[in-house]
Amino acid sequence: MKGTGTAARRLESYVEGAWRQGEGDGKPVLNAATGDIHALIGTEGLDFKAALEWGRATGGPALRSMTIHERALMLKAIGLQLMEQKEDFYRENFATGATRKDGWIDIEGGIGTLLTFASKARRELPNTKVLSEGAVEPLSRDNSFSAQHILTPLRGVAVHINAFNFPVWGMLEKIAPTLIAGMPCVVKPASQTAYLTELVVRRILDLGILPDGALQIVTGSAGDLLDHVIEQDVVTFTGSASTGQKLKSSPAILQHSVRFTMEADSLNASILGEDAAPGTEEFDLFVREVQREMTVKAGQKCTAIRRVIVPEAHENALLEALSKRLASTTVGLPDDDNARMGALVSLKDRDDVRSKVTLLANESEIVSGSLDSVDLVSGEAEKGAFMAPVLLRCEKPMSAEAVHAVEAFGPVATVMAYRDGEEAVALAQKGRGSLVSSLFTNDGTVAREIVIGLAAYHGRVLIGNRRSAKSSTGHGSPLAPLVHGGPGRAGGGEEMGGMRGVKHFMQRTAVQGTPELLSAVTGQWLEGAPARSDLHPFRKSLAELKVGDQIVTEAREVTREDVEHFAEFTGDTFYAHMDSDAAKANPFFDDRVAHGYLIASFAAGLFVDPAPGPVLANYGVDNLRFLTPVYFGDSLKVRLTCKEINPRENADHGEVRWDCQVTNQKDEVVAQYDVLTMVAKTWPLAA
Ligand code: NAP
Repeated sequence: MKGTGTAARRLESYVEGAWRQGEGDGKPVLNAATGDIHALIGTEGLDFKAALEWGRATGGPALRSMTIHERALMLKAIGLQLMEQKEDFYRENFATGATRKDGWIDIEGGIGTLLTFASKARRELPNTKVLSEGAVEPLSRDNSFSAQHILTPLRGVAVHINAFNFPVWGMLEKIAPTLIAGMPCVVKPASQTAYLTELVVRRILDLGILPDGALQIVTGSAGDLLDHVIEQDVVTFTGSASTGQKLKSSPAILQHSVRFTMEADSLNASILGEDAAPGTEEFDLFVREVQREMTVKAGQKCTAIRRVIVPEAHENALLEALSKRLASTTVGLPDDDNARMGALVSLKDRDDVRSKVTLLANESEIVSGSLDSVDLVSGEAEKGAFMAPVLLRCEKPMSAEAVHAVEAFGPVATVMAYRDGEEAVALAQKGRGSLVSSLFTNDGTVAREIVIGLAAYHGRVLIGNRRSAKSSTGHGSPLAPLVHGGPGRAGGGEEMGGMRGVKHFMQRTAVQGTPELLSAVTGQWLEGAPARSDLHPFRKSLAELKVGDQIVTEAREVTREDVEHFAEFTGDTFYAHMDSDAAKANPFFDDRVAHGYLIASFAAGLFVDPAPGPVLANYGVDNLRFLTPVYFGDSLKVRLTCKEINPRENADHGEVRWDCQVTNQKDEVVAQYDVLTMVAKTWPLAA
């Protein structure tokens, strides 16, 4: 039968290395769509102070003993295994009121986020335990004193508190960057949907991939958990602004300056550009996007569109088109394929949404949908938390207040009209900071004015038009490589954003000292640190190569014939290489100069050791700068130094970064860059 869940399960918390039940029978958690008891939950009697200590003492050291790539590979293995088990999660997902499509965002979106972090970390971060950030700062003329910013994992525990609406994604998007950073986690899902998070954590722990103490879960009330956080811990919170404010000012967090990241609610806007008149593709895309955002997860998405901001001239057409689409939205049991929209997460939530709509209706009118009735394709209206999508219209949005402040966390949005672009931006800003806004326009001038106006108030802005109609990821989807979070009302937090998110769980430290000692700390060679020149470093496999291995080449003269040959051969006959008078008239040159790429090519000719060997390939250069012009007759030489070694965990080679400095006969640096190569771990290669 549609909507029947599994028998009520007593949920457990995984703390201090074991699955533990709270005292007593636990409180019932109801199936959102059927009203049946789905699970029993409670944490009474669990020792959260000991759980935090166990995470710090056991999980922290184990994670920090691994490199970033080792940790990322662990997450990859977990993500792949979870994907295999996704049908179990989908079955549990229905109890939350979410349809299969809704569940896709949470379940596969969550696992995909974990996998994206695992892969980006291996591509974008070195395979080390310490991260260096930015360039070395030379602080003395003689290279005896320099500085480097480094990042190391915090030594505490990250407590991740989540909202009910993304029980899988919400947890995975938080633990992925934390574990890659090398910090253990305690996750605390919202009680209402904790059964799904608990199931996923159970499956993760059953895999036996994570070290002991790396991941714990508190299933039920957080009790006194936050009373025991200390200075090296991090607390992240996703949920309502009111709970967030309360937790942010809890005594232990204030007393120990605990890093606190808040992702709260927000009154996200979507703006229709003045150019996007009825009949344009942008108008139709806008209508579709607003309907989708109002009805996906029954509108219980932190990024859902709450305010629909449209040009005065198009308001009536928009109201008509949107109302028509909303009226065609089928509502029913989440596992019924005929239902486009499932249930809200609980009857309590539905009551709350209804009372919020009543507040909004003091200054707006309901133009589509009703609070009193809903047509269902399946399910029972008294038992499940079903409601029809409700569209309001606010006539005087510049002076209205509730519409910019009250979040009805359900399938509810309000349409409001603007006179010009400035007013559209002013209306969006009245939300006092949001996670995301979107703009539908095909006009670059409109895009520039509105996006720049919105940016300071938002963590993300999406521009939709006909060209991206098929490829756009949509208004409501936070993505692993992009920042999620917004200022002000949205909580002022920032999550994900690719590798930026990993750094939220590390301490940035400026380290000053001699280059030699800085190099010992970071494992990277830097200017002024000692170097060795014995065997040509290209003859060394990763097993033999050391940071600081160096070759200084013979000199090579650059002649007029070289430059003319290069010009003719490549077709680069830019006047500064070919025409003496024209070159002299250029403010940078005294005469004809050699091509920069000729210098880089000659440099390779000088430092390369040609015979087959452990250096397998050159895959690029970073930070190439031509610093001094090279004239005919100048003599170049190269100093190539092994700067950083990154063995790949699951390959027989690794990446080596070489500091390459090209100087002339006066020891002036003419070119400086990093050469990037792939080098075999052993040589000859294993058959
Ligand atoms: P909520 O009531 O504020 O609860 C959020 C979390 O805080 C839950 O895990 C809750 O646990 C926990 N909590 C409550 N009191 C606590 C305490 N004293 N100590 C420790 N933890 C405590 O929010 P919700 O109803 O679950 O979620 C809906 C709201 O979240 C909406 O306003 C939505 O906009 C917002 N949201 C924001 C984002 C975002 O990324 N910005 C994402 C999703 C949702 P219990 O459930 O056990 O009480």
